[in-house]
Amino acid sequence: MKIKFPDGSVKTFEDGMSLFDIAQSISPSLKKKCIVAKVDDRLVDMNTVINKDADVTFITDKDPEALEVLRHSTAHLMAEAVKRLYPHAHFGVGPVIEDGFYYDMDLGDDTLSEHDLVTIEKEMKKIAAQNSDILRSVVSKEEALELFKDDPYKVELINELPEDEDISVYTQAHFRDLCRGPHLPGTKWIKHFKLLSLAGAYWRGDSDNIQLTRVYGTVFFEKEELDDYLHLLEERKKRDHRKLGKELDLFMLSEYGPGFPFWLPNGVVVKKQLLDFWHEVHTKAGYHLIETPIILKRELWEVSGHWKNYRENMYTLDIDEQTFAVKPMNCPGGMLVYKRDIHSYKDFPLKVGELGLVHRHEASGALAGLFRVRNFTQDDAHIFMTEDQIVDEIKALVNLFDYMYSVFGLDYKIELSTRPEEKFIGEIEVWDRSEAALAAALEDLGKPYKINPGDGAFYGPKLDFHIKDSMKRVWQCGTIQLDMNLPERFDLTYIDPHGEKRRPVMLHRALYGSIERFLGILIEHYAGAFPTWMAPVQVMVIPVNNDYHLAYSQALVEKLKQLNIRVKIDDRDEKLGYKIREAQTKKIPYQLVIGDREVESHEVNYRRYGEKDQVAVDQEAFIEMLISEINLKK
Ligand SMILES: [Zn+2]
Ligand SMILES: [Zn+2]
Repeated sequence: MKIKFPDGSVKTFEDGMSLFDIAQSISPSLKKKCIVAKVDDRLVDMNTVINKDADVTFITDKDPEALEVLRHSTAHLMAEAVKRLYPHAHFGVGPVIEDGFYYDMDLGDDTLSEHDLVTIEKEMKKIAAQNSDILRSVVSKEEALELFKDDPYKVELINELPEDEDISVYTQAHFRDLCRGPHLPGTKWIKHFKLLSLAGAYWRGDSDNIQLTRVYGTVFFEKEELDDYLHLLEERKKRDHRKLGKELDLFMLSEYGPGFPFWLPNGVVVKKQLLDFWHEVHTKAGYHLIETPIILKRELWEVSGHWKNYRENMYTLDIDEQTFAVKPMNCPGGMLVYKRDIHSYKDFPLKVGELGLVHRHEASGALAGLFRVRNFTQDDAHIFMTEDQIVDEIKALVNLFDYMYSVFGLDYKIELSTRPEEKFIGEIEVWDRSEAALAAALEDLGKPYKINPGDGAFYGPKLDFHIKDSMKRVWQCGTIQLDMNLPERFDLTYIDPHGEKRRPVMLHRALYGSIERFLGILIEHYAGAFPTWMAPVQVMVIPVNNDYHLAYSQALVEKLKQLNIRVKIDDRDEKLGYKIREAQTKKIPYQLVIGDREVESHEVNYRRYGEKDQVAVDQEAFIEMLISEINLKK
């Protein structure tokens, strides 16, 4: 058989050689490094025997695919350790996730604590040190049912497989698991791991099923990588926006309003900066802004389809014996505003935005600080246009999103989701043209994107923006969605150049998504140390001695106030060091210390948050620098 390698070389081998044999024949050191191999684009175990011509790429611990294999093999190792410690344990599924892996398990009457995770880890270390081979075997469905007859969850999974399917089983020492693979050649690779947390998880995600114990963990090939990751987790904990929200007096939550955040004065200031920035950018970009009511009649939600499809997430109430709903989205109100006028193609593209407060019912167990709330401000906007305006409008939108995210120092990735296989409305040709227009816009801009086939909404294709914060977490915030549904349901029209009525193309787009959630992300992204333009208090003036420096300080504060700078003075009779430290814990961008020298030479002595050095400059120069920094949103 002929084997082709990634460098283009082709070598002849005897049929029936395993990938290990092939690697060995190239070099024994290569064999030692191999984790798995890619054979004609499929990842397989190194023990796999090759019987025909194939393209082969060996995957070593340096390749990204290897990390997933390591993680999944570590999940198996964890299950083996659990089984040794809790022989009655049964296992659900144990997939690889973004930063590691988990395994769901049924431990009968036993419950795990954080302390037990340490015990399981120790057991895992013991097993890994035995350096067992991990071997794949293939069995029939009948044989699989026999092998796993004591494992009810595995039996359920096996029963769902087609009758004639070969089922693979992986064995290491005395532990075996039903698994597609591939896996590491042996447990010796599993060294730098950590079990991280516990959670409850319903079997198959269905709350009617039994709740299993989910154990999360992670693993890396190098110790340094594991240490870095654990450090990052610590940092994320420190930055928890619920903790910082309390310390910085940004917002509060109360048992009297679960999922309905209360905004405190500092939080209102920060939120207002986000909204003002949004207003400014959108007004410049030609958007009209509207406000529509929060409570609207049931009949409207019937027209929009929400009553049928979204009812369980909506709050309803009766007014004068008629049913109303609190809006879960701004769109239907926006449609009514569009219908108020007759529109001409000359008005297009027509961009109408709304920063509307929406309410959505979320299960109480799903609420999580500002990340999952029951009311939030959504920055939706609707763009009405003709089909040949789509590409230019999308380009303008992507540029606008790009600019706004860059101000926050947020990187992002774009995903294009296309027509679902079955549930969709509209003509296939219209879908194809719309998807092509979205792709063309991104290609024109030279923006890389990933396609999610079949992942579009039932009413149209969409672009999703996944932003990455300073803690390397990814959040889906921005979205641009073409909608073939609402214009139809609300019978939206415009007059074309021939005087005929036509249906406009419409899209929804949100950049922050939920302003509350976006703010939660920013609190953690900045660790509460907002850039000056957003900070609740931008400058803290600290006179060294109230007897000599207070008048100058007060005059300075007054001047800054007149320039719309958010400034405070700390004229308490406390020690200077104490006042400086307190301004630091409040993460105020500028602390100005005013002493003799400053008063005499009309200067300020400033220290930027997070920096050690104090800088003495002329008062006017400082004000100029400050205003420029705020205006540039640096
Ligand atoms: Zn597996
Ligand atoms: Zn909308």
